[in-house]
Amino acid sequence: MKVGISGAGIAGLTAAIALQQAGIAYTLYEAASEIKPVGAGIALAGNAIKAFKKLGIEEAIMSKGRLLDAFVINDPTGKLISKTDSRSVGLKYGADNFTIHRADLHEALLAFVNKKNLRINKRCINFEENGNRLVLHFADGSTDEVDYLLACDGIHSPIRKKLLPQASPRYAQYTCWRAVVEMPHLELNEASETWGTTGRFGIVPLNKNQVYWFACIPAKAQDPVLKNYTSTDLLRHFDGFHAPIPEILLHTRTEQLIHGDICDLKPLNRFAFGKILLMGDAAHATTPNMGQGACQAIEDAAVLASELEHNHASFENLFLAFEKRRLERTSSIIVRSHKIGQVAQIQNAWLAAVRNFVLRALPEEVNEKGLKSILNVEF
Ligand SMILES: Cc1cc2nc3c(=O)[nH]c(=O)nc-3n(C[C@H](O)[C@H](O)[C@H](O)COP(=O)(O)OP(=O)(O)OC[C@H]3O[C@@H](n4cnc5c(N)ncnc54)[C@H](O)[C@@H]3O)c2cc1C
Repeated sequence: MKVGISGAGIAGLTAAIALQQAGIAYTLYEAASEIKPVGAGIALAGNAIKAFKKLGIEEAIMSKGRLLDAFVINDPTGKLISKTDSRSVGLKYGADNFTIHRADLHEALLAFVNKKNLRINKRCINFEENGNRLVLHFADGSTDEVDYLLACDGIHSPIRKKLLPQASPRYAQYTCWRAVVEMPHLELNEASETWGTTGRFGIVPLNKNQVYWFACIPAKAQDPVLKNYTSTDLLRHFDGFHAPIPEILLHTRTEQLIHGDICDLKPLNRFAFGKILLMGDAAHATTPNMGQGACQAIEDAAVLASELEHNHASFENLFLAFEKRRLERTSSIIVRSHKIGQVAQIQNAWLAAVRNFVLRALPEEVNEKGLKSILNVEF
């Protein structure tokens, strides 16, 4: 029996690790000509760390990144709106607020994957059933046969498009720039977001003196002017935002910017389609407002590993059991994250002042209650 995995992103690599550990033969097909992560930094919450633990790779991953002390939200003057103490949250629910450069994360995951099972330059664009097997079609004209397929091919998954043509990515109404810059003198220990009416700026310290930052601006989809924004344009846009935001932008060269409109996928009502299972962003892409997209992809792999320990009559049954465990949780995160984005991107000054007032008045326990449902997970 052979399982195919389309896509060697975070979902595909972690799913491969789960299959490999269960002794199941698999082939991992990646569209790109090399496994090169697109993106800057990433923050992973305690639930992802628990999922890594389930896969037995927690230490290897954690040695490549760092844990932060807190997550804070400020207004553009630098005045605190809310603060979550990651150390105390970590003590209750396991390590939290872990940050890592995406390249380091991919490299660390790839180290666990048997390279003999990896095929690059293989963009899987279609499939058909042939008796008991699935025939996969690739963009280069080649085909391959597998018994089952894990579709880990991201938010624009062609496999999902064929299975559910009506489910397409939804634009969140804001566009985002990201970069990683070296700023040895900053010595930051907290992740932060600064919420202004003209946009939102996030700072996430990584290890090796690197700082990952992101900036979200309300915009129409595919805005041609914003598409060509330089770091100087962003500096002008975030003029008046507190330190070290201007300094970070001054340190960023335009060619370091990664730009894209923010999208998610409205919650689906199934992930299992007979011999095919949707995983990661192909199944449940969410806006990045809760920092949970990759965490949920990693949880998928941990749940796959857990279901592989059960004695399912068939893989079709295993896929259904996976779906049962994953649908509600991932759907609620998509909905919550979408709403948080709307609140964080408020453009009306009066509404923003009310929001900040309410958030400042909220007792810490309310904040923690929201976190508990995310972090308190077992595999
Ligand atoms: C701005 C931003 C910030 C984010 N920050 C965080 C964060 O801090 N924390 C967090 O948990 N999440 C975050 N996320 C979400 C996270 O990036 C995604 O949820 C995660 O990358 C999903 O992994 P994936 O493997 O499912 O999909 P992808 O990362 O999209 O990987 C898909 C892989 O499949 C390949 N592929 C695509 N099509 C095909 C095909 N047809 N055939 C074969 N291969 C194919 C691609 O080349 C790629 O390697 C953020 C997202 C954005 C946009």
